Amino acid sequence: MVPADRAEADAWTIRGWADVAVGCLALEPDATGSGPWREGAFSGLDEVIRAAPVVVSGGHNAARLRQLRRLAGPVPAWYPRARPVTGTIRDVRQIAWRAADLVGWFGALLMRAAAHLPCTEPVPLVSELHLAWGRRYRPSANGAHAAVCPPVSRRLARRTWMCLPWLGVTIADVPSTATPLAQQVWRGIHEGAHLDHLGVLARSGATAPSPAEFGTGLLVAESYAMAVEMLAAVECILTGEGQAVWQLGAGLVERATRLPGGSAATAEFADLPTLAEVYVLGPLEVLADGAAGRALPAEITGPLRARWLTACAAYPPAATFGSAAAELVDRSADRPAV
Ligand SMILES: [Zn+2]
Repeated sequence: MVPADRAEADAWTIRGWADVAVGCLALEPDATGSGPWREGAFSGLDEVIRAAPVVVSGGHNAARLRQLRRLAGPVPAWYPRARPVTGTIRDVRQIAWRAADLVGWFGALLMRAAAHLPCTEPVPLVSELHLAWGRRYRPSANGAHAAVCPPVSRRLARRTWMCLPWLGVTIADVPSTATPLAQQVWRGIHEGAHLDHLGVLARSGATAPSPAEFGTGLLVAESYAMAVEMLAAVECILTGEGQAVWQLGAGLVERATRLPGGSAATAEFADLPTLAEVYVLGPLEVLADGAAGRALPAEITGPLRARWLTACAAYPPAATFGSAAAELVDRSADRPAV
């Protein structure tokens, strides 16, 4: 179940299946070594899709799903086709545009601030080194996770963090064409925050797949990871990591402008306005104790907010941003991101 209307719900559901397919590939014997549990890793997903109400076409999400499934053999006849989803997709809400303006403003401010900071060498292009670098900037950093190497690119994998049967909290180590600095920040901060969140949920009894991977749970998860990015950006100013500040600022600008109808709109989110909105409105709710913040375990919001307040005290522009975020979240109380 995804919190969206018909055509968007179709696109989102199929995107979720594609994300599951990445996990299936990771559990396939050819991908990560032999093991009895890895046989037929796709059988469960195949059955779910066969039993689902008929979704004839799913646009680029269906194309990705089919590409992933093909890596494990012929695509079953009942898989959705890659033609565009049928039906109208709602517009982005005004409250999300206001959040995008605020997040874009803060991102641009960070990029300007980076120009006055020392340049630091990028961390070598190794997933575990990226996660280790990000630990100091993640308020609930926890090292416990498995790593898998499914035979896909980052573009095809999209979501690389997951909770898998037998393996638990897992990161997919996949090749990317992005700059080393972008990969360092994605893995070390954003995806690291997802792993930290999954770990807390798993320790409190959540089983694979984690509720944070789909539907409303995914909206909450992205809200948290984005809030950690914002905290990390300010803390990187304080520690003088100029390049990381620039990259984090650029990431905020990208999330603010890629909304459907935005100045740098992307095909990926054209049929997913709810998901696109949460990257800008969700973190403001987390930092200002709005709906997304209240949906997270106190165990991770407590340390995040404590460090955000400290960072705001040390870097006044962050306090200005935080006040504007709180005001926006107050006004959006009846139209939250999650
Ligand atoms: Zn994310």
